[in-house]
Amino acid sequence: MQCSKCRRDAILFQRYSGLHLCEHHFNRDLEAKAKRAIREHRWIESGDTVAVALSGGKDSSAVLFFLHKLLHERRDIQLMAITVDEGISGYRYPERARAIADSMGVPWVMASFRDEYGLTLDEIVARKGTGLSCSYCGVLRRALMNRIAREEGITKFAYGFTLDDEAQSVLMNALRGDADRLTRSMREVEGMVPRIKPFMHVPEREVALYAFLHVEGFDLAGCPYAGDALRGDVRGILDDYAYRHPATKYALVNLGESLRDPERVSGEGFRVCERCGEPCGRICRTCQVLDEMRERT
Ligand code: SF4
Repeated sequence: MQCSKCRRDAILFQRYSGLHLCEHHFNRDLEAKAKRAIREHRWIESGDTVAVALSGGKDSSAVLFFLHKLLHERRDIQLMAITVDEGISGYRYPERARAIADSMGVPWVMASFRDEYGLTLDEIVARKGTGLSCSYCGVLRRALMNRIAREEGITKFAYGFTLDDEAQSVLMNALRGDADRLTRSMREVEGMVPRIKPFMHVPEREVALYAFLHVEGFDLAGCPYAGDALRGDVRGILDDYAYRHPATKYALVNLGESLRDPERVSGEGFRVCERCGEPCGRICRTCQVLDEMRERT
């Protein structure tokens, strides 16, 4: 199959756009989406020190490669990588993350649960069981990364979260009835280093392809404690539904952004029709239908 934009061989078919893309146009497409997300959210500014949360897996390795390519000539912005070793035997290998950062010449910092808390996640799970492993892990990792951020002068944390991760999170919060998380503002929270997610509009399989094309030695293993049953269910439901309705994940991510953005909510929120006085958007659907009917007569 040929690329829809040139005559080279295609390496990817995007069902949601109907395009076949060669390697050159695939890279351009993915990088344009990531740059647009950064621009629209004003995620990176002059003077920033951006730290990629580098697990050594495909998504974080891909975002490190992308940001290095984007920023390596900028003297006013620093890029670095942080790896947290939770102490999960057979899963976390910090030396692989280090090799990836070294291959790009990006400064790398490592911290471990063992050094910081005197306990590995394996030991916590042995005491407490696996039920809350992700909760403990997330809380301890966030605190550790914030301490490193203060020491290193980090102003932004970059994560490799993909369109699939974001869409799953929106649907999970809806299924849990968690209005707080669904509507929590994207604005900065005092004391927390802001998080940026350049790949939030890029499907997971395209991020994986980007990693395969540009990064060597990333990890493919899954965490043995990744037991979030709801996320697994939601992933299955969404993938199945999105196969028949390819725009679904984009719709969910856009919904999540709208709900979290207080300005957009108040700007586009509930009001009355400026013509008939009924509650609606700017012009109510009834008036739109009547307009359409009048245009035809
Ligand atoms: Fe930690 Fe859970 Fe992620 Fe494993 S899956 S690294 S336990 S948050």
